[in-house]
Amino acid sequence: METTPCPKCGSRSTHVSTSRSPYMGGEPDMIFHCRTCGTRIYGPEKVKGLVAAHAAAVQAAAEREQKRLEEERRWLREKEEQELAEKKAKAEAKKKAARAAAVQAEILAAAKCAWPSCPNDHTMTSKYCSRVCSNKNAHARAKSKKAVAV
Ligand SMILES: [Zn+2]
Ligand SMILES: [Zn+2]
Repeated sequence: METTPCPKCGSRSTHVSTSRSPYMGGEPDMIFHCRTCGTRIYGPEKVKGLVAAHAAAVQAAAEREQKRLEEERRWLREKEEQELAEKKAKAEAKKKAARAAAVQAEILAAAKCAWPSCPNDHTMTSKYCSRVCSNKNAHARAKSKKAVAV
């Protein structure tokens, strides 16, 4: 067990001596002595109080440290979970991009404009040859939607 620091100078070079006075029965006499500054504290109550106060402070510091470590561990765990979620999201985005690319490739694989009666080739970026056919399709879709709604 570590020594109780001196309440006056903070030195740990202290010792507690116990001596049973031959003239008084009961409690042994206790003396706290600081080797650095020479402070002396007499009496079992005062000395025991000093030692107990120091032990309590040590205990409190240990508990604080324990709490800090737990906090740190929890923080690390949360960070790990967050990183895992980010990785998942990235993989999902990659899959989506691959699917979009596949759809795009399918469009480009078809030789002709997607508007049924149009004889033109489609462009590199669309499945239609022009805005005209794209708009025709949009109108047709809106119409069929309305028809379904009614
Ligand atoms: Zn001292
Ligand atoms: Zn067309």
